[in-house]
Amino acid sequence: MQINTDPIASPEDSELTFITGSPFLTLIRLANQTVALALLRSTSIQDGVARTEMNVKTLISPVAKVKVHGDLLLLLPSSDPETMENLWVWNGRYLKSISPVPNTNVSTRKVIELIVRGMLIEPVNPNVVTASMLLPIEHRSEINSRDITWALKDNPMEAVIITIWKRVCDSKVPISNLALLGGTLVGFPYTKDDGTPALLCVEVTQALSDANVFNTEVICALCLKSTGDLQSHMGGHILRAIRGVEEELLMPVSHLFPCGFCGQSGNPDCVVKLKKTKVITSCPRKVPFKYAFAEKGSESRPCRNVPVICTLCPHHGRATDAKVAVWRYNMEQHLNFSHSEYAHPGKPEPLGLPLPLHIMQAILLTSLKKKKLGVPVRPRDQAPSPFNWSKSKESTTTTLAQATTSAGQKRQADAAEFRNAIASSSGSKRPRSAKY
Ligand SMILES: [Zn+2]
Ligand SMILES: [Zn+2]
Ligand SMILES: [Zn+2]
Repeated sequence: MQINTDPIASPEDSELTFITGSPFLTLIRLANQTVALALLRSTSIQDGVARTEMNVKTLISPVAKVKVHGDLLLLLPSSDPETMENLWVWNGRYLKSISPVPNTNVSTRKVIELIVRGMLIEPVNPNVVTASMLLPIEHRSEINSRDITWALKDNPMEAVIITIWKRVCDSKVPISNLALLGGTLVGFPYTKDDGTPALLCVEVTQALSDANVFNTEVICALCLKSTGDLQSHMGGHILRAIRGVEEELLMPVSHLFPCGFCGQSGNPDCVVKLKKTKVITSCPRKVPFKYAFAEKGSESRPCRNVPVICTLCPHHGRATDAKVAVWRYNMEQHLNFSHSEYAHPGKPEPLGLPLPLHIMQAILLTSLKKKKLGVPVRPRDQAPSPFNWSKSKESTTTTLAQATTSAGQKRQADAAEFRNAIASSSGSKRPRSAKY
């Protein structure tokens, strides 16, 4: 078997072009603050507009602010039968996220698309190899019918870890610029034959744990802005995601029950419990905050995304025990999944049983808070109690009528309203263009 001696492209001295579909190496941060090398295959290249190809020099330039979307390839250790050199071989699979569907035994899996800064990319030119010569049969189920796959040598990959880390240091970009992976992952970081994690970047891992010790400000993993109040800041992202307000984020907020600290779902560590006003969770991004203050919200701190107890759910044990809680902004989703017989302001039609008043109060947001967070106000959010939805209280009826007869105008008005809100809100200056 012929394995190239230098499979890693050297971007500095080349006129190489990087095209969509090309493989590349980059460093990925994991929720436990480890940083590991990953092989990705690009799905799109963006520098304001989508491009199908780009000069490699431009791609990795820190000033160009290019972003590359890509899927992470799962590699397995092997060795060249002739030279006995260590290799990493693609088993044909991509990294998928596993999200449990609440209250069922079912979980969904989908390929995780990562967004990586161009400057943190090392384009590679893997060897095309015969899979059956390098992988045991049980790892070849997703190899194509031609029995060919990609392989990279271990040594140059170790060198790329240093190359990318050096670029991070030289350009002084925050470590938080490395793409973050949360949730339950199977197959990444890559592991050696004995199951120990491989291709880790020890320097960055150390730097990350140091940063956590000395900084009171933390970097938001989704938008890379630094914040002294991550819980409130993340609440803004979550609410905007739930209400369909687009933001350009390095990593999107998860659709299903996003955690109030990390914005992701599927990580069992992110389960949140409440013991009176004490928030209990093992989310790796958790930060301390004052529950009563956050629960009430304020002018300067409009986010009220705190864990609340759903009293419609059965809670066993003593009254003083810690109870499983639901983040407030996830309550409407929780009602849809677990108590679909009830009406709530987020349902397209106000059908169903009226919600108990205390649940209603737990999920309603005032229009002030929505404006501050850059979120459009929905007509039925204004209702002080569920009973107003069907009764013809004048103001509610007018709003509903306007909403149905001139939905287009309403949408335009909403759009203008939250454009203004975003412009005037100090907490969300950036959503229009990605700033690193
Ligand atoms: Zn953010
Ligand atoms: Zn979390
Ligand atoms: Zn419930």
